[in-house]
Amino acid sequence: YMEAEKQASGNARAQGRIVMATVKGDVHDIGKNIVGVVLGCNNYEVIDLGVMVPAERILEVARTKRVDLIGLSGLITPSLDEMVHVASELEREGFHVPLLIGGATTSRAHTAVKIAPAYAQPVVHVADASRAVGVVASLKSAEQRSAFADANRREQERTREQHRGPRVAKLLSIEEARRRKAAIDWRGYKPPVPSFSGVRKWECIPLGDLVPYIDWTPFFHAWELKGIYPRILKDAIVGPRAKELLDDAKNLLAEIVADKSLTARAVAGFWPANSVGDDIELYADDALTRPLATFYTLRQQMQKPEGEFEYALADFIAPKETGLADYLGAFAVTAGIGAAELAARFEKQHDDYNAIMAKALADRLAEAGAEWLHKQIRVAWGFGCDEQLSVSDLLHERYRGIRPAPGYPASPDHTEKTTLFTLLDATRATSIELTENFAMLPAASICGLYFSHPDSRYFAVGKIDRDQVLDYQRRKGLELRAIERWLGPNLNYNRDNS
Ligand code: SAH
Repeated sequence: YMEAEKQASGNARAQGRIVMATVKGDVHDIGKNIVGVVLGCNNYEVIDLGVMVPAERILEVARTKRVDLIGLSGLITPSLDEMVHVASELEREGFHVPLLIGGATTSRAHTAVKIAPAYAQPVVHVADASRAVGVVASLKSAEQRSAFADANRREQERTREQHRGPRVAKLLSIEEARRRKAAIDWRGYKPPVPSFSGVRKWECIPLGDLVPYIDWTPFFHAWELKGIYPRILKDAIVGPRAKELLDDAKNLLAEIVADKSLTARAVAGFWPANSVGDDIELYADDALTRPLATFYTLRQQMQKPEGEFEYALADFIAPKETGLADYLGAFAVTAGIGAAELAARFEKQHDDYNAIMAKALADRLAEAGAEWLHKQIRVAWGFGCDEQLSVSDLLHERYRGIRPAPGYPASPDHTEKTTLFTLLDATRATSIELTENFAMLPAASICGLYFSHPDSRYFAVGKIDRDQVLDYQRRKGLELRAIERWLGPNLNYNRDNS
């Protein structure tokens, strides 16, 4: 309709042209797509290059299509480095167009401190889709552009000033942090023994079984409606829109379930395990004699009041010297098989709304799948059999044990997914693939580890010092530079970029 109206009024010229992409190694694009729709509705021409787009392709399109702006999006932490790379490539090739930055892990501070210094043109962090039009309009307007760019530059200079100098937190040495590991009393503890060992596959989980496990609050966040379900439906301002959105979601969800247009698959396994220092060793046999694989965990080093623990995930697995046969579990689950095709079908009909909705629902079903699968796993472990928990209890994590995901605060190293995927043979079992930066494809996929100990809990590793990074690098046998790149956001020091 809008296209036809533009033609009819003779006002067919777009206000400007923007190329947008989710950067190389990253796969999530719901936020980017919402920004694209919002800009499109405001008469900007959007060239959307999709996901996993290498810098060269972004630059090539920016050049040949003579765009006015470039927008980069990313969800996982390794994308932050990739954005710096794109910025420096733009600089090297002498581009003159502003660069917009958005996505879950991006921030005003990171944009100011790391990305903006790499590129001489305005680099603007766009906190959410509702800001995009204002930013783009300011940067396009002959009158406002320089004032807007100056204000942005001054603010970024201030942010850099705040981040300069000896602002780094004083951390505990890794030895000291290890002395303060979680004090779990293993004497008399009986690790639960799972009812199956090795790997089990679920090749086609009925979607209808997953629907009750859907957590709707993050669904509204995906659409940039902030609030908590079901309260949000009664919100004075966004309530009516939230209700409409949920009705549309439930209608499409019913169609997806009926048509089986998405497929959910999972794989999970248990292995005999012990902790050895901050490592978790897995064994091929119940006597724990034949080492199979190792997960490397990172420990908190932040200063805490006396008596509080400095956690690492290894703390929740029985140490080798206890002689106890403990178990670690691992899983991968997806509900995204078919999601790209479904979204493409809607896009073809110019139905951007349902294209985004399809992806948002696939994400919800994947998270529901993780909740559903965790329930099966607790049952397999035994302690889940007499669990009396409602879905709301489950979503509030009121069960025993945790399922930390690599790339999240307790386990920020994305590269551990390689070990996890190898153990589970996850790509073959589920068709989930890892990108070069360890994002999972399809995007609506989740993987993680299972811990059964009642004291196991989520935490954030936070900032770590060079002593731990050197130790971690030796344990993992990876190059220091590589490890520092993957753990960039966690480093308490400036890595040598030379
Ligand atoms: N019900 C939510 C669940 C997502 S967030 C939804 O539908 O979106 C919760 C999951 O994120 C946890 O189950 C765990 O897998 C992961 N997680 C949360 N906090 C974590 C942390 N600190 N470290 C590692 N993983 C974490």
